[in-house]
Amino acid sequence: MIIKHREMPIKIAGYEALLKRLPPTHPKRMAVKNSLNNANAGYGGEERLDEALEFFDPPYPHRIIQDFSLGGAFKIQVDTVVLTQSCVFLLEIKNIAGKLQFKQNPSALHSILANGEIKSYKSPITQMNETAIRMNQFLKTLGCPLPVATIVVIAHPSQIVEDAPPDALILAAGEVNFHLSKMKLPKPILSIEELHQLGQSLVAVHTDYQPFPLAPKFQIEQSEIETGVFCPRCIFGKMERTKRLWECETCRLISQDAPSYALQDWFMLIKSTINKAECLDFIGLEKLDAAKRFLIRNGCQPVGGRRYREYIRQP
Ligand SMILES: [Zn+2]
Repeated sequence: MIIKHREMPIKIAGYEALLKRLPPTHPKRMAVKNSLNNANAGYGGEERLDEALEFFDPPYPHRIIQDFSLGGAFKIQVDTVVLTQSCVFLLEIKNIAGKLQFKQNPSALHSILANGEIKSYKSPITQMNETAIRMNQFLKTLGCPLPVATIVVIAHPSQIVEDAPPDALILAAGEVNFHLSKMKLPKPILSIEELHQLGQSLVAVHTDYQPFPLAPKFQIEQSEIETGVFCPRCIFGKMERTKRLWECETCRLISQDAPSYALQDWFMLIKSTINKAECLDFIGLEKLDAAKRFLIRNGCQPVGGRRYREYIRQP
């Protein structure tokens, strides 16, 4: 039973907005594009894991949490958590192209591409061992004594994997369902009611990973980011303000909501606050009063005294 479903990571929309607002020759475009590609590949892998468990119907009671993360002291991020009455499984999917080679001392994962290029990643086994330790400690704070096991899942069915450590469980996406369903679980520690409560507690403490604002992470200055309202239909067309609405210079779409997307871009890219003057400049409004009305209408909340009043997006 899935008690929390996965959503598309918000950082994907953020990288796309950043690329849209960077000049074609900007030196950071490549880095942003790489981040977008990695985020898309990661999400693609996670969707494959969800598909693999779509018909998961094991003979034991369970709860599934897709995309679990915990900030604060524990810093846990898991693609999929499977809770049972006797143990917790943490599943991490890897969607990396090329032949995969596990390295030891120190541990790493190498991918060897068809052209011979080698890319090195943090070993998912080391990563999951660390996550399991943290999860164990976190479960103890909830008074939950369940042991934690980890499984690394490989997204591509035909991928060659070499030198996998013998004590690690590595599965292809297509065999996860069968493997987990056939597993002989130890004697239950939790009652069904306790399993249910554990699931509810984990969903309640889950905190979405917050990657914004993106521009400072790439050391991009606000002045390098193009201002204005982009067309939601043709994506790269700029919109001009007509009497009451906005019109795309390229495809002539008329829209009322387009400036709201530009405001979202501000919060994703530049900072978590905006004042009237910044809004006027970024969106392309004519009067400070119009900027204030626009911010309030878009669910922003004023903070700070009159003189230095800023607006934040309501949570
Ligand atoms: Zn357009």
